[in-house]
Amino acid sequence: MATLSNRAKGLKPSPTLAINAKAKAMQAQGVRVISFGAGEPDFDTPANIKKAAIRAIEEGFTKYTAVGGIDELKDAVIEKFRRDNQLTYKRSQILISCGGKHSFYNLAQALFDRGDEVIIPAPYWVSYPPMVALAEATPVIVETREENGFKLTVEDLRRVITPRTKALILNSPSNPTGSAYEKEELERIAEIAVSNDFFVISDEIYEKIVYDGFQFRSIASLGDEIKKRTVIVHGVAKTYAMTGWRIGYAAGPEEIISAMSNIQSQSTSNPTSISQKASVEALIGPQDEVERMVFAFAERRNYIVDRLNEIEGVSCFKPIGAFYVFPNFSEYYGKHYQGKKINNSTDLADYFLEVAKVAVVPGIEFGADRFERLSYATSMEEIEEGLDRIEDALKKLS
Ligand code: PLP
Repeated sequence: MATLSNRAKGLKPSPTLAINAKAKAMQAQGVRVISFGAGEPDFDTPANIKKAAIRAIEEGFTKYTAVGGIDELKDAVIEKFRRDNQLTYKRSQILISCGGKHSFYNLAQALFDRGDEVIIPAPYWVSYPPMVALAEATPVIVETREENGFKLTVEDLRRVITPRTKALILNSPSNPTGSAYEKEELERIAEIAVSNDFFVISDEIYEKIVYDGFQFRSIASLGDEIKKRTVIVHGVAKTYAMTGWRIGYAAGPEEIISAMSNIQSQSTSNPTSISQKASVEALIGPQDEVERMVFAFAERRNYIVDRLNEIEGVSCFKPIGAFYVFPNFSEYYGKHYQGKKINNSTDLADYFLEVAKVAVVPGIEFGADRFERLSYATSMEEIEEGLDRIEDALKKLS
């Protein structure tokens, strides 16, 4: 008798989490691994946010809440969209979930059916294709190019639209490339979405982590027609160093949000009561800690991009946002170490881990095999040493 569902059989664990687990296991054996794997800030959650959580516990705010989140947090989310994006939402258009990933999962379950096509620009965040597939829809992967700043062009988009296109996933700033769309680029995409009547899922989780004065725009803010077709996925994890607290949120048309809430009510129920109170403080409390963290990320970004571009045969796009670099190492494919050939991004990541004791995530997991993803959400000392090790390891290849 078959034991597992086809759905479960086809599913791999998240590769980024798997790499981190492997690096941690090596560290536990006493190996000093430098990890560029983690998709989380290395900073602690700011003290005012922690205090709000402690207060919630002390006041006994430890019971079930409304499934879709407490009104106080929905109002804080509404205020954030008003303040930062000039977007107006009602409470019925907001759903609080257990992380941005959960928001996306609920959305995929609420919006997609078998036969629906969902356009995903590559390089993409690892979890989009599996979550689309779990909803039985078809991921339609469109490659973007390094020379276009890893952004979807209008021509590329037009080429893949069919009558079955249900949605486009946009992630700006992007994990893994750090690319981000300008207002004019979003306007062109919005026009196409409206005229072809498909939805845009706008993952804005890295909105606040941007550099060199980049002005973030939400595609939903570009007019009523596109707003009606956009669901924003967001969360507190990256901006406020709150990855473990598990609070994400979605904003969009009432009908979709209500369906997502029903799915949540039959699966997880409400997100953690304590984390919800902490997230209110995160969103509407003082924001200066965010500035401090972004300042540190910017310094690391400059260093890591320069160092990578100085390595012979490596090219690295300078990120506009998020805290990842996505360098192209493909010049090294075909080279050998002790008789073993490096064929692709997985081989190279394995080589870095085994020989240099440096953890990176293979680009293939993001749909781009010529690249590796390195997170620079780690200390400057670790970045320096990690890059020294990578450089040495590359020199050993022949
Ligand atoms: N979206 C993107 C692009 C991400 O990189 C992540 C986390 O890595 C998420 C969403 C989900 O974040 P969380 O579920 O921790 O809120």
